[in-house]
Amino acid sequence: MNHELLRSLPGVDSLLEEPALASLPGRLARICIRRVLERFRLEILEGSRTEITSLVDEVCAEAAVLGRCRLRRVINATGIVLHTNMGRAPLAPEAVRVVTEVASGYSNVELDLQTGQRGGRLAGVEEALCLLTSAPAALAVNNNAAAVLLALTALARGKEVVVSRGELVEIGGSFRVPEILEVSGATLVEVGTTNRTRSEDYEKAITEQTALLLRVHPSNFRVSGFTERPSTADLAALKCVLVEDLGSGALVRMGEEPAVMDVLEAGADLVTFSGDKLLGGSQAGLLVGSKELIEACRKHPLYRAMRLDKLALAALEATLRLHLCGLEDEVPGIRALRGDGREAATALLERLLAQGIPASLVEDVGYAGGGSLPGEELPGWTIAIEAESCGTFASLLRSHDPPILVRVAHNSVRIDPRTLLPGDEDVVVDALILANSGSAGHE
Ligand SMILES: *Cc1c(COP(=O)(O)O)cnc(C)c1O
Repeated sequence: MNHELLRSLPGVDSLLEEPALASLPGRLARICIRRVLERFRLEILEGSRTEITSLVDEVCAEAAVLGRCRLRRVINATGIVLHTNMGRAPLAPEAVRVVTEVASGYSNVELDLQTGQRGGRLAGVEEALCLLTSAPAALAVNNNAAAVLLALTALARGKEVVVSRGELVEIGGSFRVPEILEVSGATLVEVGTTNRTRSEDYEKAITEQTALLLRVHPSNFRVSGFTERPSTADLAALKCVLVEDLGSGALVRMGEEPAVMDVLEAGADLVTFSGDKLLGGSQAGLLVGSKELIEACRKHPLYRAMRLDKLALAALEATLRLHLCGLEDEVPGIRALRGDGREAATALLERLLAQGIPASLVEDVGYAGGGSLPGEELPGWTIAIEAESCGTFASLLRSHDPPILVRVAHNSVRIDPRTLLPGDEDVVVDALILANSGSAGHE
């Protein structure tokens, strides 16, 4: 330990006078100086630092990092369309326009412009949801986990909820159906088995204490083989309230994913789903169904605690309007799920080859991700670039500004144009040129 060195560390105030730090905002400068001094102190005590050098530079570097938002745009070249770690659905330009407009000023979020009186916060969203799904009533909250919790609490607290053992699932994080049921104050009645549950199993479990039957969509897994699961229509025939948590909530029919309107048509009384999965909007939990059930949810105090904020509301309503106008191809998530990326991949390949980057076009698959279309592969085309260490190459691309996220398969880094947004190709080409010149320089 070097006491001399410790004593020679300058104080916060004297560092603040350093010309290089004088231009930093005072508060930020103080925080960063303290952090760096603390780090130096520890290093001196540990013996890993034997002289005081580049102190000012380190404070500047610290300020550059701390002064910048950690949350930032990344380029998704993975081909996984609704990646929860990457924010799920990117918004359509029209949704971004409405969000910006509403965010940068005042809005009529709870104002009826005809009467000048207080208006319904969700009026636009409810109207669009009812028109799109033919539901009599609709409601929106923060996310689908909240929607499920609200529905169970408002409709089944102190009573019983019948769920198939094959649907007591974990959606991700801490959203587990049995636990949500416990929190709601409802009692879980399990029926059937992991792989097979029949309509009669539910029927036998219905008593005077039953509030509802809950059907949960297997969003993120598949059961195959000796399996059986009653349809929505089978359960609706049991004449008990039927709530279905659909999760992904497609408003347009896509692959094997059940569409919201079809589930309502089949007899579900209440359906819950996410706003940022197959719908392609902002994070939100949507409830559609009978007037009576929706009203019970709206009147429950939890609803206010789960209220959708105005920015998410703006994005959601704008996205629903696109669906309503038949313009859902303007929603990036939906467009990405529909295409095969061949044209974009071919164009990108030509640009890379013209720059001398050794790349090739390969047939590959993308995924919906985010708990949608589980196991369903989206056939398409990707760019493959072979690398000695794919991990190092992928990490180099992650350190680009903006960061680029890729997939690694068969000893190559894969760039999937399915999830690239307008303008992303330019960034990817620039980053690959840089990476290529870097690796050429090492040879
Ligand atoms: C995704 C999902 C949820 C959770 O939705 P969030 O909007 O992420 O809260 C709940 N249930 C199912 C079946 C899901 O797929």
